[in-house]
Amino acid sequence: MNPEEPLENWKHEQFACQVATGIPARAAYVNAGYKDTKSAEASASILQRTPKVAARISHLKKTYAAAQAEEVKVDDVWLTRQYLTVATADPNELIRVKTGACRYCHGANGEYHWRNRDEFARHHRTWAMLPPEKQATREEPNDLGGYGYSLHLPINPDCGNCDGLGTSRVAVADTAKASPAARRLLATIKQTRDGVEIKVHDQMHALDQLGRIIGAFEKDNKQKGEGAADALMAAILERTKAAGSKIPFATAQPEDKPE
Ligand SMILES: [Zn+2]
Repeated sequence: MNPEEPLENWKHEQFACQVATGIPARAAYVNAGYKDTKSAEASASILQRTPKVAARISHLKKTYAAAQAEEVKVDDVWLTRQYLTVATADPNELIRVKTGACRYCHGANGEYHWRNRDEFARHHRTWAMLPPEKQATREEPNDLGGYGYSLHLPINPDCGNCDGLGTSRVAVADTAKASPAARRLLATIKQTRDGVEIKVHDQMHALDQLGRIIGAFEKDNKQKGEGAADALMAAILERTKAAGSKIPFATAQPEDKPE
């Protein structure tokens, strides 16, 4: 009797396979095709303890455990790739701060610089509709600074308003155009009253996790970490190549020339 071979009795084999995967004996007994009677529980228990069946169950359990361990190894590799993607993604692809001229950098005579006539007219109208007592407290808007303002204008280093520092605005990118890595970095997007709120995953945490994985290899190099280490290296090389690096990558060890 070799426990590596399936049991001759087909029902016994079905029963053993099911018990080995953790299905309770009684259910496995019925699933294997035995009648679901009052004595099924006791009969299942007896069958489970029969030496041939018990040996087969024990062998199958070990096989399944080994297969599961193999799956865990694949998970390590997957996890490593996820952390690497998050750790190295460029947040600028999702959100960036654009700095440019302030409203006074290019305003004529140091006055407020309007985008266009419409913008000025809107502001003037708002002022004109104020009750007289409020109007008295606010200066009437004028267009002496002129038109043509844009954040893309260069900062005026001599600006008396911003002292040459300009002004900044946060720009949210079109996430549909972001790279897969940047999209992986994205945790949540929310439309709020004040605009779009974007949250990204913690890149330092991802780096920390990668560090832990690499640290684990040092102690246990021949064990489960190896696959993840290979995946990490492969992914780094992939990335560097994709970024247009000129570093030559050797695909294989060059063979020694016979002398
Ligand atoms: Zn300025």
